[in-house]
Amino acid sequence: TTIQNHLPTAELQALDAAHHMHPFTHGDALAKKGARVITSAKGVFLKDSDGVEILDGMSGLWCVNLGYGRSELAEVAARQMRELPYYNTFFQTTTVPALSLAARIAELAPEGLDHVFFSSSGSEANDTNIRLVRHYWHAMGKPSKKIIISRKNGYHGSTMGGASLGGMSAMHAQGGLPIPDITHIDQPHWWAEGGDTSPEEFGLARARQLEEKIAELGEDNVAAFIAEPIQGAGGVIIPPETYWPEIQRICDAHDILLIADEVICGFGRTGEWFGSQAMNIRPDIMTFAKGVTSGYQPVGGSIVHKDVAAVVNAAGDFNHGYTYSGHPVACAVALENVRLLDEEGVLQHVRDIAAPALAEKFATLGEHPMVADPRTFGMLGGLQLSPDKDARAKFEAPVGTIGLRVRERCFANGVIMRHVGDRMIVCPPLVITPEEIDTMVERALKSIDEAYEGAK
Ligand code: PLP
Repeated sequence: TTIQNHLPTAELQALDAAHHMHPFTHGDALAKKGARVITSAKGVFLKDSDGVEILDGMSGLWCVNLGYGRSELAEVAARQMRELPYYNTFFQTTTVPALSLAARIAELAPEGLDHVFFSSSGSEANDTNIRLVRHYWHAMGKPSKKIIISRKNGYHGSTMGGASLGGMSAMHAQGGLPIPDITHIDQPHWWAEGGDTSPEEFGLARARQLEEKIAELGEDNVAAFIAEPIQGAGGVIIPPETYWPEIQRICDAHDILLIADEVICGFGRTGEWFGSQAMNIRPDIMTFAKGVTSGYQPVGGSIVHKDVAAVVNAAGDFNHGYTYSGHPVACAVALENVRLLDEEGVLQHVRDIAAPALAEKFATLGEHPMVADPRTFGMLGGLQLSPDKDARAKFEAPVGTIGLRVRERCFANGVIMRHVGDRMIVCPPLVITPEEIDTMVERALKSIDEAYEGAK
């Protein structure tokens, strides 16, 4: 084999340091300590090259919804590779896996969202959305409607378009982003930014920033608003209940397309197929990726309302697409993943068993003196590390020092939990059992304790 899995860990790490550039990583710092080499996984547990097990509280990167080690998905991929490993969908051809997946997604999506444009990732899908909404308004005879409004601290991917839609200042700082005609409003993060207002008042106020921004720019210049139903990479920020109904009202009132970025919330994460269903949002377009294949293959795309699709389909060629749009092997794996999520009652498991268990355990984490705002929604959880939670105080700069310490303790204690500054977040596989949730949270608590002792 050309895969070097016979080598000892130190040699694998040396090869990695010498040749592999990691995403979102300080290369030299990682090279010095060596990357942890993950070699296999089963259920919710990863195994590293030293044979040590780690509970994956993040589903990889928010994607392994069905858990690891499902041979059904491997078998479907092998079968499809033998039959038709690749064909494109550009020039008047289609493939059975691509059309079948589009039809299946149309069944699962909210009413009216029945057309799918495929990509291989969430970033690419959001680039598609930028092209799609501008093309749509042009075809509608309103070419000035170009600007897309998004949110600070939102995450929509890492391509030029995706990172521009995203509101991550550290990403904007590298590479001259955002690209033109994308602008950002504030996020609905009550704990950090709500001041003296109630969550309900704050949710309304933050939603109304959208209306103010539309007024400032002129309705005739705004194409769309994009947001995650629940901000994931920004720190699992669950908006106050007043937020989404007001956003919906504003988009409807001002003829603005609403794009729900469901890359994390989609395919069962909230206990529904899509976060928009859980939060009662009626989007015009939904971005999806990640959970559609449980990460076993790269698939992403845009689910488009039939009214929008009809305009775009009637407007001549849409000059956009990717070599791997509708990749047959990836689509076959997605179909099998969706079949398993459905037939094994995974969404029911989330609603009845896993999400209540996660919520209960997270509430106990809130008893820790350093843990504020422990919150879950479906199988997403977030908490704030705070030196004085009654005062909603934040740790001194540099932000993230304590978060990083907790994450590193978690890593050593056998659980993967991520930190966003001083917010700790989890997103475990949907199939996780209550016992495994106990293990995850106990390891997290031990890690928070160790970091707390170090911070005193
Ligand atoms: N949109 C959201 C909400 C995401 O969370 C992500 C990735 O984390 C993306 C888009 C980008 O997806 P990808 O990394 O597949 O390009």
